This record gives sequence, structure tokens and C-alpha cells, in this order.
Amino acid sequence: MVRLAAQASTVGELEAMVSMCRACERLVRWREDVATTKRRSFADQPYWGRPIAGWGDERPTVVIAGLAPAAHGGNRTGRIFTGDRSGDWLFAALYRAGLAVQPTSEHAGDGQRLIGARMIAAVRCAPPANAPTPAERDTCSAWFSRELAMVLPSAKAIVCLGKFGFDQILKALVGMGFVLPQPRPKFGHAVEVVMAGTEQYDAVTVLGCFHPSQQNTFTGRLTEPMLDAVLSRAAELGR
Ligand code: SF4
Repeated sequence: MVRLAAQASTVGELEAMVSMCRACERLVRWREDVATTKRRSFADQPYWGRPIAGWGDERPTVVIAGLAPAAHGGNRTGRIFTGDRSGDWLFAALYRAGLAVQPTSEHAGDGQRLIGARMIAAVRCAPPANAPTPAERDTCSAWFSRELAMVLPSAKAIVCLGKFGFDQILKALVGMGFVLPQPRPKFGHAVEVVMAGTEQYDAVTVLGCFHPSQQNTFTGRLTEPMLDAVLSRAAELGR
């Protein structure tokens, strides 16, 4: 997988390669089963049912890193964070922060566009119960790391939605030659980790952010002002 991902020389090539991937047997079965069975409320819609590519600006100053597409969200619409409740929260906040042209993201042809930002997922296929196995996470990290390496030359801030994305970003950055500050940074909302530059890359700031899942937004663990604060900070770093 690492060798395959390394063959992509542009973000477009990488997207095309990712969309054909069938490396994780369990996830391929699940994403395709969901796309065939469908949720009743979407029964009249075609489902994407394939891996989700990164989406947004190809030279972003702000990168948004999530876990994986939702079964009836990105796995249905074909666009990351599009068509589910988490995405509703996230896109509204991106719009308020000046990082998206409209406050909603409902389907791939809705005119939504990110401004100086790009979304990537640590795992590209929808996993059962939103929980990829460690082996699936590690297999997909080849795509994740390759895309990160492509966008890092322009990136100033990386917003990690949830601990999973935070840990995967730090791991990928270390794999690219960055040195972790000590003591090892712990995930938390609005945590900022400045990763000093390397010979190849400039410094980049990693920001922790609670995931805008219903589990967090319904319980008040994540509020709109909290999400706005992190995305505004990322936008400020990106300027
Ligand atoms: S999760 Fe990643 S590595 Fe696994 S099948 Fe999907 S795209 Fe391929």
C-alpha cells in the first residue's frame, strides 16, 4: 500500500487511486452492504459505497483531519462529512470561520467549496460502529500519510477532530521527520501542538478539537462557540 500510494504524484492521482482501493476485506463488505441495503429515508438515492477521497483546496493552509466517513453520510454522498449530522455542525462552523462558501453540505453537487482548507480522513471507508480495527487503521495510513505529505508544504494548521485523528496526525508527522514535543502531547479540545519545522517542511500547528458527533453535540460536550474557537484559530494561523 505504501508503494502504491507513493506512485501518486498529484492529489488528483491519489484521489483516483484511493477510490479503487479494496485492501480491507471487512470494510469493503460493510461499505458495499450499506450501499445496497440503504437507510429507508435514503432508499431512492444512489449510494457511493466506495472509499472517500480527501476534499477541498489542493494547497490548503488549514487541514481538517477526521476519523472515517459515516455509513449514510460520506458513504452515501461520496464527499467527506457531507450528508450527516456531524457534517451539518462542521460545515456551519467552517462557514462562520470563513473556510467554506456556504453553511451546509448536502450532496456532492451542492456548490459547496472550501476556502484554503482541505478535509482528509484517517480511514477512507465507513467502518461498522465508526470503529476501524488497528489493522484497518494501519493499512489506510498509507493513503493518509501520502495525502498529508502532499498538502503539508502549504499547511499552517491541522485541526484534528477527535483523539483518533489527533493520534494519527502526530504519528504521520513523526514518520515524516517531525519531532514530537516532550512530554508527549495529549489530545484535548483546543490543545495546540507546535511541530517545529524539518529540513523538508516548515513548522505546523496541530489543534485538537472534539469531534462534532451527536454524542458530543447532544450532550453539550461540544458547543458551537467551542467549535468556532478552534476553527477561527486555525483560520488565523492559516492567514
Ligand atoms: S479503509 Fe483505506 S485501505 Fe482499507 S479498503 Fe478503504 S481505502 Fe483501502
